Amino acid sequence: MTNTQQNYSTDFSYKSREDILNTLQSEHFDLVIIGGGITGAGIALDAASRGLKTALVEKGDFASGTSSRSTKLIHGGLRYLKQLQFHIVAETGRERKIVHRLAPHLVVPEKMILPVMKGAPEGKWMISFGLWLYDMLAGVKGNDRKKMLNRKQTLEKEPLLESDRLKGSGYYAEYMTDDARLTIEVIKTAVRHGANCINYVAATDFLYQNRKVSGISCKDQITGKEFEIRGEFVVNATGPWVDDLREKNGSLSGKHLFITKGIHLVFARNRLPVNHALYFEIPDGRMIFLIPRGDITYVGTTDTPYQGNKDHVNADADDREYLLNALKYLFPDLNITASDILSSWAGLRPLIWEEGKSASEISRKDEVFISPSGLISMAGGKLTGYRKMAIKVLNRIVRNLKKTGEKHIGRPQTKNIPLTQERFSDFAEVVEYKKQLIERLGASGLDEYYADHLTLIYGKQTDQILNRMEALKDSDPEKRLFLAELEFCIEQEMVVKPLDFIERRSSRLYFMINTVKKYYPDLLERFRSVFNWDEETLHKEKQIVESRIREVSETNPPHN
Ligand code: FAD
Repeated sequence: MTNTQQNYSTDFSYKSREDILNTLQSEHFDLVIIGGGITGAGIALDAASRGLKTALVEKGDFASGTSSRSTKLIHGGLRYLKQLQFHIVAETGRERKIVHRLAPHLVVPEKMILPVMKGAPEGKWMISFGLWLYDMLAGVKGNDRKKMLNRKQTLEKEPLLESDRLKGSGYYAEYMTDDARLTIEVIKTAVRHGANCINYVAATDFLYQNRKVSGISCKDQITGKEFEIRGEFVVNATGPWVDDLREKNGSLSGKHLFITKGIHLVFARNRLPVNHALYFEIPDGRMIFLIPRGDITYVGTTDTPYQGNKDHVNADADDREYLLNALKYLFPDLNITASDILSSWAGLRPLIWEEGKSASEISRKDEVFISPSGLISMAGGKLTGYRKMAIKVLNRIVRNLKKTGEKHIGRPQTKNIPLTQERFSDFAEVVEYKKQLIERLGASGLDEYYADHLTLIYGKQTDQILNRMEALKDSDPEKRLFLAELEFCIEQEMVVKPLDFIERRSSRLYFMINTVKKYYPDLLERFRSVFNWDEETLHKEKQIVESRIREVSETNPPHN
């Protein structure tokens, strides 16, 4: 089967929900995927681009699980070196390059500094060797290869670092992304290749024929309507929920998940004015990231076992204190306190349990489980490896299809499928585009940092947003931009609820929370008119938005 991407409609909005729901109920699929995080999205794209008839259901919004709550790095996993997992470093290193090529605006190079402090267990030579090996395994070339900086060179780049204990640093290359955007772009690309993907539809049970899984029962979370989807293969790509579905399938035995929570805190860039991303060791031996993005800097993460409600995960007071102490250790003079926190997020790692290992020691590797009734579950893994994970799942399916001789499935195509329709040819073009954007935004009275935001989040789709913005009438350009982004996401990205936009399509709840606080009444008005909300719905949604703003920005959240 061949790839027929150009022929499919790109209308992926609430207007097409009814059609998608009808298709899901009336057709028989090759593959039914449960879960619309990066894992499910990647599998949908791989399957649809090889010509498989593909369905995907997500119980909340796309990326509403872990895939909007990571450190947002596409990285080779320096920590794997410590665990001597060289093949993972090599594989994720190769994947970084591929995903950067497929979406150069969304997976962007980021230089990292790894400070070497006096008394740290790994000295400068060890770090130099580790980074050399890291570059070599990941195939890093030219100027991107690591450099070791002495104390003076390090302080020139990062004057804020505590000079008394600093011995020098490693200076090396990683990539930064926006995880929820990566997920939605992969979903949109899968849809362009013919996949039927829908959010706010939960898989409630499995259907069986001759003791083999033959589909799923579902519930539309918006209308409450229940229906069934039938398919040859069913894939459980539900991240932290993988074992819940294995249990429903009666196949939760042997290996199982171990869930840990990781949080991030967001500060104004001028309170934590670092020039580069930093990766540093704190006194308990754990490594912490500090990443500048636009006019904020975010810090993470924690790694603690979690047994609470998986649908409602937030940073609590202990988590915050842990990261605030880490900042105190690295930048004692900045006096960063809880009142400096602008926003935060918390996510769950779906790790595969390993006997006798602590949360931080457990490998982040992925694994496919196949139940006796044929349910395929993809567990563990990372954002960075989503494409390879999809190939692993599809390999199992292809093997099976070959056995039955039912279908001929082609080789994986995703290495060469760009993740947006209007694509940048390389990163140099992204930089040029951003320069032009700064001028265009300046003419509308908008600050330069919006160019960073728009380029990373929407890429060349920004042109459509700015055209919309220019057509809107309001004296406040920031509000016009906010509403133009909202319109674009409602019409092209299956936004159904306010949080879909502020939290996952635009990431404004984390990185520009002040604009959310200022414009959410306008956003709710827009929803009211587009979705025909009555007063009761408007009131309910207003409370949801306000409570979410409080959750992420509260300076004194409860302890665990
Ligand atoms: P999820 O994103 O959780 O998606 C699963 C989806 O399934 C959810 O959206 C859920 O709503 C849905 N679902 C559940 N049950 C049902 C049902 N019954 N019906 C329908 N849908 C259902 N990786 C990196 O590569 N780089 C990083 O920098 C990085 N940092 C991280 C930092 C933290 C703190 C954490 C927690 C993880 C990090 N990771 C990172 C790992 C990465 O984020 C995850 O591996 C990845 O996002 C998992 O994606 P997923 O699709 O498997 O799970």
